[in-house]
Amino acid sequence: MMGDISKGQEPFPISSLQDDLGSFNTYITDSIFPDGTSIASSKAERNDSDDDEVDDLEGNDPWTCSCTIDDPEDQDVAVLCTVRDSDSCDCVSGFGNFYTKPDTHFHQLLNLDALPERLPLVECSPQCPCFERCANKLTQRGVRVSLITKPASSGIGLGLFYTPNYDSPTLPKGTFISLYAGEYLTTHQARQRWIDQLNNPKAGEGNYVLSVKLPGETWHIDPRYKGNIGRFLNHSCEPNCVIQIVRWGVDSLPRAAIFTKRDVVDGEELTFDYANASGSTGMASHLEEQGLVQDGIDQKGRTRCLCASERCRGWMPFDERL
Ligand SMILES: [Zn+2]
Ligand SMILES: [Zn+2]
Ligand SMILES: [Zn+2]
Repeated sequence: MMGDISKGQEPFPISSLQDDLGSFNTYITDSIFPDGTSIASSKAERNDSDDDEVDDLEGNDPWTCSCTIDDPEDQDVAVLCTVRDSDSCDCVSGFGNFYTKPDTHFHQLLNLDALPERLPLVECSPQCPCFERCANKLTQRGVRVSLITKPASSGIGLGLFYTPNYDSPTLPKGTFISLYAGEYLTTHQARQRWIDQLNNPKAGEGNYVLSVKLPGETWHIDPRYKGNIGRFLNHSCEPNCVIQIVRWGVDSLPRAAIFTKRDVVDGEELTFDYANASGSTGMASHLEEQGLVQDGIDQKGRTRCLCASERCRGWMPFDERL
């Protein structure tokens, strides 16, 4: 039993029943480039220049709102950048705020039903002056649900499970679980890793790369060696989580964030659909097991799916576009 796989980097510890975490060697809370620099230091580069929104991004100043607390009396209670502030907050008026905070619950929730399909979430930027008072920075605050890694329900490898220590017995739909953090690779770098992996296969380890494809931008997130708990979610054909693309300020690189897509009860394994991570069509796809020539799997490179859901498609998803 390992105390905290995040080694104190997340707000709450994440325990593991198993000490051997395979190839995984470095816990990071946010994604990095292969040279170790943070993705937070890079601006989005979009080449679809007909877009008015993109024109606004030119210049070096990041897009921020100007929400601050004027009255010192309000310091303890004020919450900034809420839906109600959509006239005064440039971030919320420009891009919306899809987070709600039910009185009955500890966590802010993403209103998945209100979010237009395939629209990236845009939160306030870390440079916005609202800082900790902001109601629009949910995915910037780390992992705050009670989780444990242990052997997966399928019996193969590890999985990530909900284990309420300080939370309610049920996690509501729309709860933020974590980012899918890892190394941000270009398509060329991702291909190179895939070739290296084929030449040096490790039993029981598939491809962890999640591809984020947006107009003018493609990133491949690889958490195999360096990542966060997102890498421990297994595939299911009938998953209880979805991946939503989120920007921390409109001019940031896109990040992948994991939310529950329905209520999750005590002891459930968390999963998402590697072929259709966003629950929509084709925005993000996981590239599990593209192994055209890998041993131990059939000649088309596909692997039997063990998710055991009633809607199981029988095979692991397969993406040949990389
Ligand atoms: Zn604001
Ligand atoms: Zn803002
Ligand atoms: Zn804000």
